[in-house]
Amino acid sequence: MVEIKTEQSGVYQTALANFDRAADEMGLEDEMRTLLKTPFRKVEVNVSFRKNDDSLVVLNGYRVQYNGARGPFKGGIRYHPDVDMDEVCGLAALMAWKTSLVDIPFGGGKGGVSVNPKELTTSELERLTRKFIARIGRVLGPFRDIPAPDVNTNPQVMAWIMDEYSSRYGYSPGVVTGKPVHLGGSSGRVEATGRGAVYVFEEFAQLENWVPGDMTAAVEGFGNAGTHVAQFLSDLGVKVVCVSDTSGAYYDGNGINISAAISHKRENRKLEGLAGAERILNEALFGLDIDLLVPAALGCSIREEKAEDVRARTILEVANSPVTDEAERILEDRGIMIIPDILSSAGGVTVSYFEWVQNIQQFTWHEEKVNAELRKIMRKASNEVHALSREKNLQLRTAAFMKAIDRVARAEQSRGA
Ligand code: GLU
Repeated sequence: MVEIKTEQSGVYQTALANFDRAADEMGLEDEMRTLLKTPFRKVEVNVSFRKNDDSLVVLNGYRVQYNGARGPFKGGIRYHPDVDMDEVCGLAALMAWKTSLVDIPFGGGKGGVSVNPKELTTSELERLTRKFIARIGRVLGPFRDIPAPDVNTNPQVMAWIMDEYSSRYGYSPGVVTGKPVHLGGSSGRVEATGRGAVYVFEEFAQLENWVPGDMTAAVEGFGNAGTHVAQFLSDLGVKVVCVSDTSGAYYDGNGINISAAISHKRENRKLEGLAGAERILNEALFGLDIDLLVPAALGCSIREEKAEDVRARTILEVANSPVTDEAERILEDRGIMIIPDILSSAGGVTVSYFEWVQNIQQFTWHEEKVNAELRKIMRKASNEVHALSREKNLQLRTAAFMKAIDRVARAEQSRGA
C-alpha cells in the first residue's frame, strides 16, 4: 500500500525533479545545473479590459522566458483559471527541453492568463488578448520570443496577437505561430501535435514490435491534441475504446467512431450524449484494461493515487507534464513504459518552427512537405531516446532529458556561460 502524500508535485516541481534525475546521471556540474534551473526572465502583468456590460475585469498575465541559449524563446500561451507563475515556469522549462530534444533552433518559454475563456464573448477575448500583448509585447519578437497556441487558445487568438504586435512594431508574421493559414500560418500546424505524437508511437511500435492493429487505447482530453491523436491512432488501426472531456468519459469496447465523436463535439461543444458509447467516470478511464493510455488534457492528471490503478502497458504523453513525479515512481516500479511529453508532444512546436521558417523566407510549403519533415524529426528523436535508454538502462524520460540538457548546456558553454 502506497502512502499518499497530501502535498504533491505540480508541473514545475516535476520538471525540476526530472531535470535533477537526468543531471545526476550525466554528472552535470553544479554551476551548469544552477544556470539551467534558473529562468532567464519572468514577466507578470496586469491584464485589464472592459467586458461588454462595461464592467472592468483585472486578470494576471504571465510570460516566462526560461532559456534562450539555442535560439529565440518559444512556447504557447494558455488561458485557464489555474494558470499561475509556478505552472508557467514549469511549462516554459519543458519547452526548453522539448525544442532541444527535437533539435530545432529555439529556446523555451510559456505564457498564460488566469481566466476561464469559456465565460467570455469573442469580442471580450479579443480585448483581453490585445491588452496582454500590449503589456508583454516589448519582450516578444520574431528573433526574441515567439508565442503559439496552447490550452484554450487557437489560430484566431494568434491572429490577434500578430495584428496587435504588428500595429505596434511593424509587420511581423514571424512573431507568433499557429496563425490561420490565410494569414501566414502553416498547413498542418493545427494537426501537428497529434500527428507528431502518432509518428512517435509508430516509431516505438517498430522498435518494440507492437502491432497497432491489435492494440487498444484510451484518450483523456478531446481538445486540439486529443481529437487529432485519437483520429490518427484510429487511422493506424488502433482501437480507441474511450475518449473523454470535462463532461465525462465515453466508452465503447468495439471502438469509438472518432470521426463521429469529432463531429458530435463540434456540434455540441462537448462529448456528452455521444451515440453508442457508455458514459463512465472520468477517473475510470485511467483504470481501463488497454494497451495505450494517452493523457492529452492538462498537467498532473495522473497523480500518485491514480498511478496504482493504471492497467495500460504504455503511456503516450500528449499533454504537457500529465504525470506527477510521485506517480511516475509508482508507474516505473510497475514496469509501465512512459513515452515522455518532451518527445511525444513536440510535433506542435516542430511545425511552429516550419511556420516561422516560412514566414521569414516568405515561401510557402505544401502540407506533404510539412508532414514529411515533421516525420523525419520525430523519428530521429524517438530513435535517439530509445537507443540511449536501452544503452544505459534508463527510463525514457531520463534519456530524453539527458539528450535535451546536453545540447542546451553545450550552447550555454560556447556562448560563454
Ligand atoms: N503549446 C505547444 C506546446 O506545448 C506548442 C508550442 C509552440 O508551438 O511554440 O508544445
